[in-house]
Amino acid sequence: MAVGSAVSSPLGPAACDKDAKALQFIEETTRNADLVQERVLAEILARNAHTEYLKRFNLNGATDRDTFKSKLPMITYEDLQPEIQRIANGDRSPILSAHPISEFLTSSGTSAGERKLMPTIQEELDRRQLLYSLLMPVMNLYVPGLDKGKGLYFLFVKSETKTPGGLLARPVLTSYYKSEHFKTRPYDPYNVYTSPNEAILCPDSFQSMYTQMLCGLIQRNQVLRLGAVFASGLLRAIRFLQLNWTQLVHDLKTGTLNPKITDPALKETMTHILKPDPEMSNFITKECSKEDWEGILTRIWPNTKYLDVIVTGAMAQYIPTLDHYSGGLPLACTMYASSECYFGLNLNPMCKPSEVSYTIMPNMAYFEFLPHDPNSARWTARDSPPKLVDLVDVEVGKEYELVISTYAGLCRYRVGDILRVTGFHNSAPQFHFVRRKNVLLSIDSDKTDEAELQKAVENASQLLKEFNTSVVEYTSYADTKTIPGHYVIYWELLVKDSANSPSEEVLSQCCLAMEESLNSVYRQGRVADNSIGPLEIRVVKNGTFEELMDYAISRGASINQYKVPRCVNFTPIMELLDSRVVSTHFSPALPHWTPERKR
Ligand code: AMP
Repeated sequence: MAVGSAVSSPLGPAACDKDAKALQFIEETTRNADLVQERVLAEILARNAHTEYLKRFNLNGATDRDTFKSKLPMITYEDLQPEIQRIANGDRSPILSAHPISEFLTSSGTSAGERKLMPTIQEELDRRQLLYSLLMPVMNLYVPGLDKGKGLYFLFVKSETKTPGGLLARPVLTSYYKSEHFKTRPYDPYNVYTSPNEAILCPDSFQSMYTQMLCGLIQRNQVLRLGAVFASGLLRAIRFLQLNWTQLVHDLKTGTLNPKITDPALKETMTHILKPDPEMSNFITKECSKEDWEGILTRIWPNTKYLDVIVTGAMAQYIPTLDHYSGGLPLACTMYASSECYFGLNLNPMCKPSEVSYTIMPNMAYFEFLPHDPNSARWTARDSPPKLVDLVDVEVGKEYELVISTYAGLCRYRVGDILRVTGFHNSAPQFHFVRRKNVLLSIDSDKTDEAELQKAVENASQLLKEFNTSVVEYTSYADTKTIPGHYVIYWELLVKDSANSPSEEVLSQCCLAMEESLNSVYRQGRVADNSIGPLEIRVVKNGTFEELMDYAISRGASINQYKVPRCVNFTPIMELLDSRVVSTHFSPALPHWTPERKR
């Protein structure tokens, strides 16, 4: 296909034949969304008909929607825990899926403090690959010329473990980067990375980041897009540059590699990429030694057209910081996915972050939607549960919780995401990601809920007992002004014996005790990924929480119903709290974390 000549497609002129096919696929799949959904459900039910799980519900071979809906319950991870534990322990019988479980994907969502284990099957890799293959054809509709340069993406593998039964357990992206789908991907001029596979696949996070950054600097003029999976990851890379640029420019100047890079495959690869370039080294030195890092990304990578990072959901808190470092480059959120299943993509990726809508691709799984009314009381076991709505039947403007049935054997499984319908592409709905249920605090991929925070406060406050002191009220805040961000917990204390009040040492130990109580994803972020900073306790003056209540009531809250918010992010409230702080304390050490699971 000649460069510049466009192949027409309903979404717009495709950049090349390959793109035209991908866009055509999107068109056909979204146009026939309901039929595709019906087929997907029938395929899942037919192939898994003899699994222990489906047999339990006496479908008797039926593969139609009505039977499925009338016989199968909606479930959560906790409901499946016994089956998942058996698979993890080595039971290879067809429990959830007729296809063998190839590995577990470890979600950033946790259950009892540990990552949830999502069973997956080999062919799911193809489905994920298919969704990835649609992203650049869509992007090429909006940003021409991406075949004239490269993408600097900070991509990482994380540690993996084996379950007692010998199955691998690792994050979905680690599984993908280590797969042949990724490692031996065919050359695509529109999707060339500056990072060599050896750098992405290096398990040591310092060596991986260092060499990815170095390769990005070496090829700085070719970089057309900069990215990471989540916004927090890109900011971590900027922080890394702040801390390590003197070493990096030394390598650029001399053409020698930092001795901290010891991974043999990576060292070998870097010998082909790194050459002395004093001019480049001087330029980077000049830019990085400036006091002000505003716009640093576009100064170092001047041809960048957009940042490719997810800034929807919990990541929206990073938009102002990214704007600061990039001088306001467009932020592209391209896809919506999870360990359970990849869901869909943004068909208008250059839109403003606040306008991002994801189109769920009907071929990925069978999707249902639980109407979510934030104002209505929760239904109790005596009520008949609200009816689940099919993909094509959701209504614009309404909110729903996503429920999926996957090829790997999750049936009517509640993902925990709340989505709002913004429109349709053909007959496939498009969704604004509203939030994940029950998440109070999040800095990176950690998700801390109210119960976990409560437990952490309880555990930490044990240390105060010998000082006859207790925590009378608390709230929290995810502080993302620093990189990495950190949890801030406001404590109001009742000190009964002021002659024996807890010391700074004790209160900083309370910070660590809270961290020790938080879930393993939080602790991994602190210990292995360095993506979360030390937890901070801010002790506030007595009476502060009463003032907080007065403030809420002055704004219309009912006295009878008032509850202390366990997380705050409204500026006047934060200002009130901060103006009452009497002391601040930080965690003095890293909490414990190992890749091994507790159970
Ligand atoms: P995990 O299971 O660790 O892969 O996390 C998946 C979860 O991350 C999803 O269920 C969402 O809550 C969140 N997530 C994934 N993609 C997006 C996105 N594009 N925007 C907002 N949140 C997302």
